[in-house]
Amino acid sequence: MPALRRKPIVAIDGPAGSGKSTVAKLAARAAGLQFVSSGAYYRAVALLAVRGGVAATDEAALTALADGVNLRFTTDDDGAVRAWLNGDEVTDALREPAVEQMASTIAVIPPVRAHLVRKLREYGCDGGLVMEGRDIQTVVFPDAEVKVYLTASVEERARRRWEELRARGETVSYAAVLDEVNARDARDTARDAAPLRAAPDAVHISTDGRSIAQVVAAVLALLPA
Ligand code: C5P
Repeated sequence: MPALRRKPIVAIDGPAGSGKSTVAKLAARAAGLQFVSSGAYYRAVALLAVRGGVAATDEAALTALADGVNLRFTTDDDGAVRAWLNGDEVTDALREPAVEQMASTIAVIPPVRAHLVRKLREYGCDGGLVMEGRDIQTVVFPDAEVKVYLTASVEERARRRWEELRARGETVSYAAVLDEVNARDARDTARDAAPLRAAPDAVHISTDGRSIAQVVAAVLALLPA
């Protein structure tokens, strides 16, 4: 008897601001798959730490927080994705700058990663999802049916981030955002634990000079028939 084929897993990795999240959400919607942001898990631990006054150096407390994280995503009719942490909506809270910076700091702690990788694997055990992050194709789902590595120049990624912050009413200079993106890249690629890199069999797609629709179409074209 032929083995039952699971629904595919699409792993999209890339640096901050490469467009992963936007592309993954749209591709998931078009393909009828569940969207999962793995970064939201790291942000959720950071949010709990910020709210609970836990220091970024307190590995034992951060590991316990990671063990307890229960994150779920829902999609509104208009495609907007909401994140729920232990039952409470945290969509906006996860995007706060303090939470974002802390997320990449705590992401270097191996036991924190171990708990979150386990949770991400549980989420995807039946397939049928698009998961985006830094180590999905290399660590979380190395057997994913589709592996995409999204890139964009650091200047372009900083510009997108700067526009996002300005749209939220934050006054910040482009130079400061460029520094922040460079610092986050350095932390994500230079760390010992699951550094950001493409799997050897990943398809590389640059989002520089391409519309979102073009990139989404390129991802959908990779899905098994
Ligand atoms: O992708 P996002 O910006 O939401 O991720 C927040 C932070 O979480 C990243 O800067 C990165 O340090 C960390 N992260 C990670 N591994 C992942 C996803 C995110 O280390 N798979």
